[in-house]
Amino acid sequence: MEQLLLLHLSSFNDVSGWCNIVAISVSHYSVFGLKADGTVVTTASGDYQYAVLGWRDIVAIYSSSYTPVFGLKADGTVVTTASGDYQYAVLGWRDIVAISAGYGHVVGLRVDGTVVAVGDNDFGQCDVSGWRDIVSIYAGKTHTVGLKADGTVVATGRNDSGQCNVLGWCDIGSLSEEKRLWVVQGLCRYCGGQLSGLFTKKCKTCGKPQ
Ligand SMILES: [Zn+2]
Repeated sequence: MEQLLLLHLSSFNDVSGWCNIVAISVSHYSVFGLKADGTVVTTASGDYQYAVLGWRDIVAIYSSSYTPVFGLKADGTVVTTASGDYQYAVLGWRDIVAISAGYGHVVGLRVDGTVVAVGDNDFGQCDVSGWRDIVSIYAGKTHTVGLKADGTVVATGRNDSGQCNVLGWCDIGSLSEEKRLWVVQGLCRYCGGQLSGLFTKKCKTCGKPQ
């Protein structure tokens, strides 16, 4: 019996033989691989396997530990292994550029910087309809976080551990090429001015700590 179980486990996540993989996504029970030709391979079996093997023109795949798997297509639509209302909602999404999946909800970033969400909303984790100018999204287990173009952050959902306390955060995200150069040269990332010292790292011109 133990031997049978071991045999089963060892073949469970067998990715040997996979090739031309450009991205992977891992859930609790399976691995999904996106191939260069836009198709998807998986170690999953049954319905999951059957579903993703039919996918075409995929440019990104997303799964979390708990949710179904999602495929983002080149035309901005989404395919999923989900079923029922959940599937129906996601299949209606358009102009999607990124997806993130939480415990029982999934969020999609649209090309115009707005966000769509579907699934469990017990903690308001899907209340993203008012978000604007979003450039990056992240779905936690029961909360959702968005990075805005201006470097501030918005969050909604469960906050019992303070996971949504991002009010006042600023300058989050990637630095511009010019500012990155300043940082490399040891100059102020805000104005390019000289820093006061190697260890204090405060700008002599604008006074901002680095
Ligand atoms: Zn400065």
